[in-house]
Amino acid sequence: MAQLTNTRPTAELQALDAAHHMHPFTHGAELGQKGARIITSADGCWLTDSEGNRILDGMAGLWCVNIGYGRQELVDSATRQMSELPFYNTFFQTSHLPAIQLAERLAQLAPGDLDHVFFASSGSEANDTNIRLVRTYWEMKGEPQRRAIISRWNAYHGSSVGSGSLGGMKGMHAQGGLPIPDIHHIDQPNWWSEGGEMSEHDFGIARARQLEEKILELGPENVAAFIAEPVQGAGGVIVPPESYWPEVSRIVKEYGILLIADEVICGFGRTGNWFGSQTVGIEPDIMTVAKGLSSGYLPIGGSIVSSDVASVIGGGEFNHGYTYSGHPVAAAVALENLRLLDEEGIVTRVREETGPYLKEKFESLAEHPMVGEAKIVGMMGSIALTPDKARRAAFKADAGTVGYLCRERCFANNLVMRHVGDRMIISPPLVISKEEIDALIARAWKSLDEAMVEAKENGLF
Ligand code: PMP
Repeated sequence: MAQLTNTRPTAELQALDAAHHMHPFTHGAELGQKGARIITSADGCWLTDSEGNRILDGMAGLWCVNIGYGRQELVDSATRQMSELPFYNTFFQTSHLPAIQLAERLAQLAPGDLDHVFFASSGSEANDTNIRLVRTYWEMKGEPQRRAIISRWNAYHGSSVGSGSLGGMKGMHAQGGLPIPDIHHIDQPNWWSEGGEMSEHDFGIARARQLEEKILELGPENVAAFIAEPVQGAGGVIVPPESYWPEVSRIVKEYGILLIADEVICGFGRTGNWFGSQTVGIEPDIMTVAKGLSSGYLPIGGSIVSSDVASVIGGGEFNHGYTYSGHPVAAAVALENLRLLDEEGIVTRVREETGPYLKEKFESLAEHPMVGEAKIVGMMGSIALTPDKARRAAFKADAGTVGYLCRERCFANNLVMRHVGDRMIISPPLVISKEEIDALIARAWKSLDEAMVEAKENGLF
């Protein structure tokens, strides 16, 4: 059996890692100097590293381990499925039990008439599917000129050529020739950084109206879809003003364009409901899912589409598919994960008990002298770091300098909290207990104190 038990010291593993492993979204030379933190095992909300440290995972891995680490039921479902049927495809008029059952379950859970699923192995792949799906939909309906897809700056929809184009990360567009044609971006509803003198309400309306302006600029007859995360995640957990989504809903309905809700982070309980669309009150035609679908135990994603989209697409042949679309082992694990989330009342507990508890504690971080606002929906939250709350000021340094300092202090205090620019974000496993929430907040406060001292010493205030 391939030997995965570690017998090597951390420094040796770090050197090997630097020598042979290219990391996503990482400056290779910097990492080579510093050495990666090597995670060896995990249980519940706690990670263990190769030095034996126990670290509270405030990010659920990468926003995905909703059920927490170490669930034997998921291991057992994978083992059972591997023995029975480790692989078969879903191309060319074949199917298998796990894909059928998972599609049925997702159709039950998804709101409205979202009742068909096209499977993928990741959020990026699912969003690539969506680009082709919405354009093919309009072609099949006799409106092939409807190709434009509108998205938002600072959105994250994946790293493939298509999904990276949909996303609004300028640093990604700058590498490798993105975006592909006919993708357009409007501004994000980030009041803290971009609201200026406007009230949150007016700003929310103004940012939603940018969608209408863009539709009119492009010509409504040329627009296929608008894609957005109900709550932007990787952009820094940007909770939109309450006025934003109702206005966006009005606009997409008025112009008859498809709405794609990217639920890769928001889905499966993250916001206190099964889907973020329910939390923000929208009725998408397509939802992108991944991450929490299997709690990250195996890679799986998909596009959950309305009966209208499915029937139009189903009227012809959709020349699209992945070898692993509906992979039986990943589907079996996802199905078991959804059973546990449901039967153990985990989503309900986030909505009614631990979510409100976390909200109260997390919002108290706004009392810290270096924190301007603390915003949280369910179990995804962010705080804005600032040297001057009243002015919503930025630090005397490139955006992200103080955020990075703070993240490093969190790491040193055995808490995983991520920074996006100068926002610190959390997205813990949904099974986090009240005691663990207390520990998370205490460690965050201590890390903020330490980062503030360091930022002041470095003249960044
Ligand atoms: N959409 C959103 C909203 C995401 O947050 C992510 C991943 N962070 C993706 C899509 C891409 O998913 P994946 O990394 O599984 O390709």
